[in-house]
Amino acid sequence: MDLATLWYLTTGTAVLATIMTLWERKGHGQRSRELGLWAAAYGVFSLGCILSILRRDLPGISGFAAANTAMMLGYLLVLQGALALDGRRLPPILIAGLLTAIGCAWFAAGPAAAGLFWNHVSALPIAIVSSLIALVLLRSRTVRALRSRPIAIAVFASHGLFYAGRSFVVPVIAAIHGEEVLALVAEITMYEAVLFTVAMPMSLLALVREEDRASLLATARTDFLTALSNRQGFFELGPRHLSRAGKDAPHSLLAFDLDHFKTINDRYGHDAGDRVLKLFADIARDVAGQQAMSARLGGEEFVILLPQTRGAEAHAIGQSIARSFTEAAGRSDGLGIPATVSIGLAETSGREPDLLALLAAADRALYQAKTLGRNRIEIAQPEQVARAA
Ligand code: GH3
Ligand code: MG
Ligand code: MG
Repeated sequence: MDLATLWYLTTGTAVLATIMTLWERKGHGQRSRELGLWAAAYGVFSLGCILSILRRDLPGISGFAAANTAMMLGYLLVLQGALALDGRRLPPILIAGLLTAIGCAWFAAGPAAAGLFWNHVSALPIAIVSSLIALVLLRSRTVRALRSRPIAIAVFASHGLFYAGRSFVVPVIAAIHGEEVLALVAEITMYEAVLFTVAMPMSLLALVREEDRASLLATARTDFLTALSNRQGFFELGPRHLSRAGKDAPHSLLAFDLDHFKTINDRYGHDAGDRVLKLFADIARDVAGQQAMSARLGGEEFVILLPQTRGAEAHAIGQSIARSFTEAAGRSDGLGIPATVSIGLAETSGREPDLLALLAAADRALYQAKTLGRNRIEIAQPEQVARAA
């Protein structure tokens, strides 16, 4: 393998990664700092590659020192970008101090130690920073749920491991088998560098893109006004809630429809109507708790799915929501709007839960609550749930 060709290839890949990351940055307002830092890192890596190619043409140790310091700046910028994912950062003064120390170490070592430093010593800070990047990604809260996270961690962890090997294992092998081994190690190092400059930007871009897609998906499943799940979210996530809770457990569903809401809009205005909807959503979320799934199916219609909850318990929750809502909406120091809600309750009957059947039964009970005078809770009979199925 021709080492020079591999150096040129790595330089070109790093330049391309810079351009592509800058391009991607335009469409990611949320992660523009991270992508900017990573694009800068790849730019600095390409500069480091050029300096590495030219290192023997520059006077004394300066070419080696400049090339290695540039590379370290690149790694520290990647680390800075990874920290930024969780809103953290290394103080710039620390980065400047580390780079100065590395530069000084090269000049202190002098030209006689250039080979030793280039082949072994300079690999250690690279191993440490790469491992730190892997660790930061491992512990990051923002990327925890992303499928591409393990890939990015593997890329940096294996790079760190490879450079730790250059620091600690290669000197031993070279001592046993002679210095010729170093030529082979240099070839493997450059081959790995080509792969790394492809894998690193790909895995980091994958993280940001996946995060973006996940946030779009969450937005599509969320009601803008109340921040509860919307109809799409309810039908996509509801079945998962049920299956996670277990097939046989009793599950309950409460269907709500605010009473005479059209009149509230007409009398107090649409904005006041919106505030009533938000108030109801906040109360429903708080009273139903973490285990429940609350959703706004449309207009002034809401549902709460209560996994592993018996009808009697769900009944109490429904009543408590209705009471708190009427009280809070009517409070003279609050909205000052008399508002009530009608509720239909359905409970699964021990068979495999069917969300649509449960909703249809709760809706029937809700209709009954409306016809019986509103501001009340009605319970679907077990045969109603079965019939709806
Ligand atoms: P009922 O007691 O029978 O449920 O009567 P209602 O007036 O609540 O029922 P209806 O279905 O006739 O009216 C629902 C109203 O909800 C009509 C619509 O203008 C209003 N609405 C739907 N979405 C929104 C919204 O996002 N904001 C506001 N302010 N009003 C909304
Ligand atoms: Mg309605
Ligand atoms: Mg209504």
